[in-house]
Amino acid sequence: MSAPSISILGATGSIGNSTLDVLARHPERYRLHALTGHRRLATLAEQCVAFKPQRAVVPDAAAAEQLRMMVGTLELDIAYGERALEEVATESDVVMAAIVGAAGLPAALAAARAGRRILLANKEALVMAGQLMLDLVAAHGATLLPIDSEHNAVFQSLPRGRDTSVPADGIARLILTASGGPFRNMTLERMATVTPDEACAHPNWVMGRKISVDSATLMNKGLEVIEAHWLFGVPPEKIEVVIHPQSVIHSMVGYVDGSVLAQLGNPDMRTPIAHALAYPERMDAGVAPLDFSQLSGLHFESPDLVRFPCLALAKTALGAGGSAPAVLNAANEVAVEAFLDGRAGFLSISQVVEATLERIAAEPLESLEHLLEIDRRARAEARNLVEHRA
Ligand code: NAD
Ligand code: MG
Repeated sequence: MSAPSISILGATGSIGNSTLDVLARHPERYRLHALTGHRRLATLAEQCVAFKPQRAVVPDAAAAEQLRMMVGTLELDIAYGERALEEVATESDVVMAAIVGAAGLPAALAAARAGRRILLANKEALVMAGQLMLDLVAAHGATLLPIDSEHNAVFQSLPRGRDTSVPADGIARLILTASGGPFRNMTLERMATVTPDEACAHPNWVMGRKISVDSATLMNKGLEVIEAHWLFGVPPEKIEVVIHPQSVIHSMVGYVDGSVLAQLGNPDMRTPIAHALAYPERMDAGVAPLDFSQLSGLHFESPDLVRFPCLALAKTALGAGGSAPAVLNAANEVAVEAFLDGRAGFLSISQVVEATLERIAAEPLESLEHLLEIDRRARAEARNLVEHRA
């Protein structure tokens, strides 16, 4: 049997790069079908030369021409646009969904419709689509394997063989760990003036800028609570968050008999990536073994919802159900972009999200079209709020 094929959506990002790093250690495991990138064309060109995928996808015709110039005579089918992105997501056996934000949703859904094995890093897609995505996955026999380190840790701590379906009785709670981000001990007064670079200087992980800001506001953990609810079928009240600044325990599952199972390791995304790529086998990820003699202690504390209201807002949105998580996500993407562009302050992120949620009442999500319409409405509302705050 020939090796399964894989496409990496968002290959030029942090997760995409880590995925290629792991694949390079095991060239016999997968055939590379496609790599996709958005802005970093030079990176994409280097990746294509080094890894020789069959196809590459870029945003538009001009980018396609540029990429062709950069790769010269390399045998490579270069396509562009959202349709092409969806197309490659349906063509390979395995899809690494590592585009950031709502932009990754159509391709992730296309992979689900094609019954593919989806390695899901793009949490925003699941936060937005929730049950709609799960229904497609179930209807077409697709598989979702979590790449997010917390969800991958929960997956590994669940009874073996229980894929990402509803867990057995006996599970009392999921405990998601959070590093607390770069502003864990900062006062609100100081947080009001932080810069994008300060927000992106994460203590334990090197990540893309959007998720770095989400980690600084704790919205990332809020999105992860919603993601965990959908992935594992656990009700919101059984999903806890604990601050654990060392990021050594990546998350835990508590059982009714009092047992708590945890997954530990050095904070390196190549571990969950290698886990999902090899599942149910194991393979080397290039990650240094955890050296217990060097650990200075593991610390835990409760999240401060006053300084980090985004976590509470995400839980409220999950409780409201229907369209509310999609509204939360859209408003957050708009507010984070404004913060990164210097058009809004750090504290306005939670304010914009809260006000957008107040203005757009939750309604049941009927279809993908309905979801996209809600997403557009929430973005317009959030942009308006950003402008009037600036
Ligand atoms: P990144 O910003 O480093 O990379 C994002 C990728 O998406 C890039 O390849 C970029 O070209 C592509 N992209 C961006 N906008 C696009 C658009 N409009 N259309 C098509 N492609 C587009 O981000 P990242 O840190 O790699 O994160 C990717 C996803 O993985 C996010 O959803 C994030 O929440 C999740 N995630 C990341 C980490 C991490 O450690 N980096 C951990 C857990 C989950
Ligand atoms: Mg995470």
